[in-house]
Amino acid sequence: MIKLKRVYEENGNFFAVSDESPFYPDGKGGQLGDRGKIGPANVLKVHQIDKDQILHVLDRSIEPGEYDYSIDESRRFDIATQHTAQHILSASFLKTSQAKTVSFHMGEEFSTIDLDMPQLTMEALNEAESVANRIIKSCTEVQILEVERNEAEKLNLRKALSEKIGQTVRVVKIGDFDASACAGFHVKNTGEIGIVKVISWEKIKGSLTRVYFVAGERALSDYSERVFVLRELSKLLTSSVNEMVDRVENLIDKIRNQASLINRLAEELSKTIVDRLPEKQIGNYKITMYEGFDEVASFLPKYFNSDLLICKTAGGYQFTSKNLDCSRLINYLKEKLSGSGGGGAKHGSLKTAAGWQDLLSSIEKALGVM
Ligand SMILES: [Zn+2]
Repeated sequence: MIKLKRVYEENGNFFAVSDESPFYPDGKGGQLGDRGKIGPANVLKVHQIDKDQILHVLDRSIEPGEYDYSIDESRRFDIATQHTAQHILSASFLKTSQAKTVSFHMGEEFSTIDLDMPQLTMEALNEAESVANRIIKSCTEVQILEVERNEAEKLNLRKALSEKIGQTVRVVKIGDFDASACAGFHVKNTGEIGIVKVISWEKIKGSLTRVYFVAGERALSDYSERVFVLRELSKLLTSSVNEMVDRVENLIDKIRNQASLINRLAEELSKTIVDRLPEKQIGNYKITMYEGFDEVASFLPKYFNSDLLICKTAGGYQFTSKNLDCSRLINYLKEKLSGSGGGGAKHGSLKTAAGWQDLLSSIEKALGVM
């Protein structure tokens, strides 16, 4: 039974406070919190308010009082799996690369450790990963020892004890492989983890490397997902997984070359057509109009010979002027044609649903008042 001494609602969320909650809080020791049920309500999040009080975020309102509860054991096992895998991975990096773990974060989908190493090579990664998986496969017992501080210090702990830790220390000991002070959930035997796999890594904050990993069921579902994605890519690219990187690099090269060819052709075309584009004389101004390829429109400002060039593009009407104040003109048109846009004296753009006819007649009116 769990006793809820206080419940309240805030902004559509329901909260319940208890002095003796069996639910492990989110974020404590860098870990994920428990989920489960209290009476009829689902527990969505768990926060530690102070030393004794735990706040539960619930999906519905319930009265204060005593309730049956249940904790999601499969989630707790997953947390224990990821967390024990972290102990093993941290110890492996320390043994194989002398890289210390400076911090650790457990997420709902993957977890990370931040290593005190400026660069992680493929060789170093493979070595640490294989040492970690060897310990997992060896089915070594994970012992939880409650010992006095001075006894704990004799256990060759991976990390020095923090000042905050009291007289009695909870040490997690994985055979002779690793010992560290920790209060979280752990599996009883390394074999329960099954596998640990690093899925990504990146350089962070100067000289640290962040390593992303998954273990146990998470590793298996990550593997399934990758197999699915690779299979789809392999079909699309008509290539085997081994050849995929080369194939994609070739495709990217090809796309770059084609983009640059299109650019050159667009410039050639804009030079060829610029003197044959439709024109309209309004008052003293000659206006050139273009509607077609945006790529061509992007080069026309370089080559047109009238007072004002207007190109209709996917991003709206693009104005380029030689003898007119574009920004004043667009400000006027914006209002008349309920559009948006702006720009400087020489260039500007206008977004409006209006067609050429309405645009030109509005320009005629604008030039009359400008
Ligand atoms: Zn731990």
